[in-house]
Amino acid sequence: RLINLTIGQKIKHLEHQLEAVSDAPRIEAELLCAFALGKKRVGFEEKRSLFPGKSTEALDALLQRRLGGEPIQYILGEWEFMGLPFFTEPCALIPRQDTETLVEAALGLIRERGYRTALDICTGTGCIAVSLKKLGGLERVSASDISPECVSLAERNAERNGVGIEFSVRDLFEGHGRYDLVTANPPYINNEDMARLQREVKREPALALCGGEDGLDLYRRIAESRRGHINPGGAMLLEVGMGQARQVAELFAGAKTDIIKDLCGVERVVAVYESR
Ligand code: GLN
Repeated sequence: RLINLTIGQKIKHLEHQLEAVSDAPRIEAELLCAFALGKKRVGFEEKRSLFPGKSTEALDALLQRRLGGEPIQYILGEWEFMGLPFFTEPCALIPRQDTETLVEAALGLIRERGYRTALDICTGTGCIAVSLKKLGGLERVSASDISPECVSLAERNAERNGVGIEFSVRDLFEGHGRYDLVTANPPYINNEDMARLQREVKREPALALCGGEDGLDLYRRIAESRRGHINPGGAMLLEVGMGQARQVAELFAGAKTDIIKDLCGVERVVAVYESR
């Protein structure tokens, strides 16, 4: 019987069980254990104390959910992005490191070009919009999503990070004004890949993932409907899937475009520049 384990031993035990489902079993074991104990992290010293018997059931329930394929980010109910905390819910895509590439590029443009206003469409958790408002010193940030559940989640995330953002439920640019900068991480997985997603990604909303036959449906609609929504000299930054950057850039033939790589060297963001 596994009684009277220290917290450290408990984490070690969890780690082994998580190896079957996770690429980062150690980190997940630490996070789940801390969560069961009602805290964010377990300190080094604390690991020598006994795991409280009254938390055993709670931890086991969390472990079962994770072993069943639920992403750790939904179980914990929050995740970090750009060093900021974000609530996560199954109505929205989980904030990913890939998207930090887009935010870094956006912050660079804001600084270099003195942009004052930004619009984030397909905002989901609101992680892009909130990071830009919090870290970019912008005057005004708007964000929208076609999903009302996502918009209320994004509102909670703005409040949590102490930033004011104008939120609305909208389909892409519908009803929006003009901005210096537009950002989006639209759904971009093609139909074929949708059928063989990783178990955890299947728990994320298809609305946030599925980009149609070739994955580019939303980019085509964005290319057609962006006119009148970006100021002269403004820019748009779009996250794209692996191998899509060139095709997406071609949808904006006539405008100056740029392709930005992520930390792994994958072409991850397409920048579209409006002429002055
Ligand atoms: N990056 C996500 C994935 O590969 C997809 C996000 C999206 O479609 N915008 O799982």
